[in-house]
Amino acid sequence: MTSRIDLHLHSTASDGAYAPEEVVQIALDNQMDVIALTDHDTVGGVQRAQQAAQGTRLTVIAGVELSAEDEKLDRHILGYFLDVTHPAMLKLFATLREARVNRVVGMVEKLSTLGITISVERVLEIAKGGSVGRPHVARAMLQQGAVNTLQEAFDRYIGDDQPAYMPHFRLSPQTALEAIHAAGGIAVLAHPGRYPDYRPILEELLPLGLDGLEVYYPDHPPALITELRFQAHKHHLWMTAGSDFHRREGDGSARIGTVKYPPDLNMFELLRTRGIL
Ligand SMILES: [Zn+2]
Ligand SMILES: [Zn+2]
Repeated sequence: MTSRIDLHLHSTASDGAYAPEEVVQIALDNQMDVIALTDHDTVGGVQRAQQAAQGTRLTVIAGVELSAEDEKLDRHILGYFLDVTHPAMLKLFATLREARVNRVVGMVEKLSTLGITISVERVLEIAKGGSVGRPHVARAMLQQGAVNTLQEAFDRYIGDDQPAYMPHFRLSPQTALEAIHAAGGIAVLAHPGRYPDYRPILEELLPLGLDGLEVYYPDHPPALITELRFQAHKHHLWMTAGSDFHRREGDGSARIGTVKYPPDLNMFELLRTRGIL
């Protein structure tokens, strides 16, 4: 029997609904053999998930989903088989964390000039050590009585183009791939079907050492899959499959292990080269 694999899952370490341990339990309930925890810009849930999977049938691969952006585009790059304690990883996440805190400081300062006083400490408390950002600023404003709803905080103050808006730090694709490779990982372009056109992104990432494409993904139509398989063969890339699981229901996000892929996918070979299968 072929193994059941899903290489794209989120937990509460980023924007998923379930704690890493719960994600592992859901994966076990779904008879999965291998999953990768790929939270946005953090590996904070990986060790917890791996501990929860110990002694079970399930292997948890250390992963991440990095946003590499410029003015035009936000590319999501999945990293797999990361040494989460590697200095390159720690440095990257320290940079991202510092940038997020600086962004909050900027928004708090702008709000104070608009007559709204909230403290950075309070915003950080609300974020509970997670990836701090605008939702936490909005919550602090709501608690303060500065707005009546979270939406109002965005609409009038911190939403894009509003007076207390602060742009966020942009990680370059090169830095993202370098950090993944330095930490012993491989870099895979996430959900190529979700960009207006994945081809220029592929052209840009190939010289940076891109290792794979997430060919199988919930929204990918068959024609795109055919095209992506062709690209993967042409450029000698690993082909992976992932559900992008965030929660069980409610936002249309797919469930763990529901993405269908053929048994000859080179993802199996990839896992064998890494001693997982
Ligand atoms: Zn993504
Ligand atoms: Zn994702």
